[in-house]
Amino acid sequence: MSSALPPNLIKGYATWKKEGYSERKALLQRLVKEGQHPTTMIISCCDSRVHPTTIFNSEFGELFIHRNIANLVPPYRLKGDENGTAAAIEYAVTSLKVAHIVILGHSNCGGVLSCFNMCTGKAPDLEKPSSFVGRWIDTLRPGFERLGSSGDDKEKILMLEKEGIAISLENLRTFPFVKQAIEDGSLSIHGLWHDIANGVLFSLEDGSFKPVVIE
Ligand SMILES: [Zn+2]
Repeated sequence: MSSALPPNLIKGYATWKKEGYSERKALLQRLVKEGQHPTTMIISCCDSRVHPTTIFNSEFGELFIHRNIANLVPPYRLKGDENGTAAAIEYAVTSLKVAHIVILGHSNCGGVLSCFNMCTGKAPDLEKPSSFVGRWIDTLRPGFERLGSSGDDKEKILMLEKEGIAISLENLRTFPFVKQAIEDGSLSIHGLWHDIANGVLFSLEDGSFKPVVIE
């Protein structure tokens, strides 16, 4: 098997080095000298159609981004086990002292769909203890259990995408350092759902998702 990088990556890098890097050389050198001081942490899905830096038009150094399948935050556990998401949150809050954490969910999420299929008995492979994906998306099972009986599968999957954001916000508050920072007034947490096809962001406010108002 060839160890060569895919040509599209080499081509993209060449373009960025010539254009993007040239424009940002001073910024990047300052960020290296002064260190990173991002004010916002984004927790988004791994999905290739989700581009946090693009949709927020952000520069290097602005966003501390953690990505995982279905943008989930598991509940706090006393043992510091192999949980990359908890480690990223701890670092963002206690070391970088970010002022905001945004859970960025999205439409057409394959991870949420997998959770729905697993919870409805349509994906037995995901129920196996050996499935990393299955064990991970089990974090969202409480969201499935909250879904009512109304609506067809398509509507329920959409509801589950949004429940996942609410549950991740609830789980965030179970981390003692997050709870403390919120109480101190130094941290606020937010839930967004991104409609990919229409390029619209919805914000979770008072229990429902409303379009983000652009002034
Ligand atoms: Zn997703």
